[in-house]
Amino acid sequence: MIKCSREKNLNFCGGCNEYPCEELKNFQRQMPHRAELWKAQSRIAEIGAAQWTDEMKAYFSCPECNASNTSYDLKCPKCGHIPGNGFAGNNREAIMAYLEEKMKS
Ligand SMILES: [Zn+2]
Repeated sequence: MIKCSREKNLNFCGGCNEYPCEELKNFQRQMPHRAELWKAQSRIAEIGAAQWTDEMKAYFSCPECNASNTSYDLKCPKCGHIPGNGFAGNNREAIMAYLEEKMKS
């Protein structure tokens, strides 16, 4: 996708006339941390990448201690707050299903 966006001189997939292409659809459904990819693309188009990045920094921070956490931090590793951030709270079931499946294999 990086190669594709460079060839088309695009900064993000949402600006492409082939959006959403099959490659992006396949990429999106592989991992739960990509659950909000479609929302992200439309938000970047709406407010620009810089402002969206600021929103994501806040969204991925713990609401209690402000630690920056990952998509998979259902519980903040620093202070124990549940969820570890807004994303983990909004996608709890998909993340849990993914982690449980991963434990089996
Ligand atoms: Zn915390």
